[in-house]
Amino acid sequence: MTVANDARNAADDSSTGRQRPSVDTAYVHAHRGDTAPGAPVSPPLFMSTTFRRTAEGFPAPHFYSRISCPNRSAFEDAMVMLEHGSEAFAFASGLAASMAVFQTLRPGDHVVIPDDAYYGVRLQLQELLRHSGIRFTRTDMTDLSALRAILREPVALVWMETPSNPLLKVTDIRVVAKLAHACGARVVCDNTWATPVLQQPLLLGCDAVVHSVTKYIGGHSDVLMGCVVVRGHDEWCHELRRIQTIGGAVPSPATCWMASRGMQTLPVRMRAACASAARVAEFCAGDGRVVDVSYPGLPVHPGQVIAMDQMSLPGAMLSMRVRGGRAEALAVAGALKLFAHATSLGGVESLVEHRATVEPSDSGTPENLLRLSIGLEDGDELVADIDAAIRTVYP
Ligand SMILES: *Cc1c(COP(=O)(O)O)cnc(C)c1O
Repeated sequence: MTVANDARNAADDSSTGRQRPSVDTAYVHAHRGDTAPGAPVSPPLFMSTTFRRTAEGFPAPHFYSRISCPNRSAFEDAMVMLEHGSEAFAFASGLAASMAVFQTLRPGDHVVIPDDAYYGVRLQLQELLRHSGIRFTRTDMTDLSALRAILREPVALVWMETPSNPLLKVTDIRVVAKLAHACGARVVCDNTWATPVLQQPLLLGCDAVVHSVTKYIGGHSDVLMGCVVVRGHDEWCHELRRIQTIGGAVPSPATCWMASRGMQTLPVRMRAACASAARVAEFCAGDGRVVDVSYPGLPVHPGQVIAMDQMSLPGAMLSMRVRGGRAEALAVAGALKLFAHATSLGGVESLVEHRATVEPSDSGTPENLLRLSIGLEDGDELVADIDAAIRTVYP
């Protein structure tokens, strides 16, 4: 039996022990508010920007919604619980969350990021922070000797993203965190693709986790939001809170409400999407017109062993490279009917994207690569759609 099959079974059967039975309940109940008779079962949305003070004039517990508000606090509390952190900071987008982390750096600080980091994260360091005196180096995080060589000089922050975008490279979170900590660097992991359902980087040694909530946590392609979750209560956490509340890139109460609702179904959605992704990956791996499939659940994937060690399932993202180049890849994307040809990922609907079109020209993403975000449609129908699209382009 292949590991992808194994993963599918794990997705179908919570008795394998991979998926703790309490996870579904924890997510559904993460937002349980008032349990008194007559209290609403769905949490109320508080649109107020300002809150009454006590007679002594003190805020109790909220006073102005940029600083805190009930729906944002409820979302942040749930993220703390699900990522096993100590504090969470919600932001207006995933990139506002990564920017907040970089804003804690000082002139002269050196940052290490993956060579295929989400391109917006790289552009923040390369363009927005180009006058800040912050240096950054890109490296393949799966090449530990390269990382060790970089860490011979002082590094302030090591940034991981695993599985990576769009090549699905798997970084060994424990090992990289250990190497970075030994050199005094802080360690942050972009956990957007795995979600806290599949992977909990804070338990594997990271100091912070960053999410584009826009993707799986929101889950319906209708909210733009980000989040940082930390462990500890040190000066750095305090600084992140100041960047959130004084920098002011915060999400609205309605956005937080939507994200909290999406979060409740996250484990169920992840299991279903991962099961279909495993089927699509197996199909593509066996098709001669697809020259390469990157999916951490396939035994041929170089990161498969690490993925199965640090993730409960291999995820619902995959990339395939088709025979030919840009023209063939775009033709296949255009011929798909169930997959919407659009950017982003993590929604209920499956998406396909030609990444080389949207990424900067120096990203190195192959022209024949298509990235698939597997949604909640029937897995057999998704496979049939890919099969039909490939037949159209390679008759
Ligand atoms: C989408 C994404 C981001 C950026 O998030 P936004 O919500 O679009 O700002 C960062 N990292 C990863 C891995 C992403 O997929």
